[in-house]
Amino acid sequence: MAANRPEVIRDKSDMRAWSRSEKYRGKTLALVPTMGFLHQGHLSLIREAKSISDVIVVSIYVNPGQFAPSEDLATYPSDFHGDLRKLAEAGGVDAVFCPKNLYESGIERKKMDKDPSFGEEKAVSCLEKEEGGDGHETWIRVERLEKGLCGKSRPVFFRGVATIVAKLFNIVEPDIAVFGKKDYQQWRIICRMVRDIDFAVKIIGSEIVREADGLAMSSRNVHLSPEEREKALSINRSLTKAKSAALHGQNSSQEINDLIVQEICDAGGRIDYVEIVEQESLVPVENINCPVVICVAVWFGNVRLIDNIEIKM
Ligand code: AMP
Repeated sequence: MAANRPEVIRDKSDMRAWSRSEKYRGKTLALVPTMGFLHQGHLSLIREAKSISDVIVVSIYVNPGQFAPSEDLATYPSDFHGDLRKLAEAGGVDAVFCPKNLYESGIERKKMDKDPSFGEEKAVSCLEKEEGGDGHETWIRVERLEKGLCGKSRPVFFRGVATIVAKLFNIVEPDIAVFGKKDYQQWRIICRMVRDIDFAVKIIGSEIVREADGLAMSSRNVHLSPEEREKALSINRSLTKAKSAALHGQNSSQEINDLIVQEICDAGGRIDYVEIVEQESLVPVENINCPVVICVAVWFGNVRLIDNIEIKM
């Protein structure tokens, strides 16, 4: 087991030096960015990375820059030692990059939560520059792609994601980075960022891993009560039915949408959105006659779940 234990690197200059020495030795390097609390979905990204790269770095960093103050940063699950054990058992990971903080400075989360003047409008991120202070102020925005789907209800989410991924690319300097299609919009945004600003990184989109009963694996599933978890199965059930209906000729997005909303609401879910969009541009379609992806975000209790299904027409 010890032989499989990855090297744990906490400092960004140590990480960069480690990567450079591997690349100097002619190795290709793949990065799998995560926020930890690892599950089989993460492990499948690692396997995919291993199949195409010599050296694998997994980053574990819960990025405060992608959580608005009203969101669940404080309760985001973590189990660092469990993660290291899982990685050692799975094998194939050479280094784990787990920085304490990747932002030079910024408002402390707690301080912001307590400040009543820090309203929704100002709450663009928990790392916004302090008045006259020295906070983080450089953000990457993938302007059109970040606006729809999850971007509507999480307005600062994707700029936080794009920025932290850019930072990780600059620190780890990978040749390849693997992302899950579970976070479909995120994957497309990263692909576009890489293209638009010329990162020399190949992006791989890896298929969604589900529990045996169809629930998409997610670190947040741990917050579902057994009843909520049961009800949440309506998400994948409705997406599967919708795909089958579309493949059998029902091509009105509105009708397919209604079918999904009905099934999820009947199970007690609160819909954030259900949208049928073109796969690359993420532009909504009226009729399903090109490759689309149906994306959903749904609340069960206090847990917001996302899922999607691709339909290749
Ligand atoms: P997270 O730790 O949730 O930020 O996820 C880290 C990476 O794992 C992202 O690229 C996710 O899309 C991916 N991922 C999370 N859950 C799954 C899943 N069920 N199947 C495939 N990839 C996943």
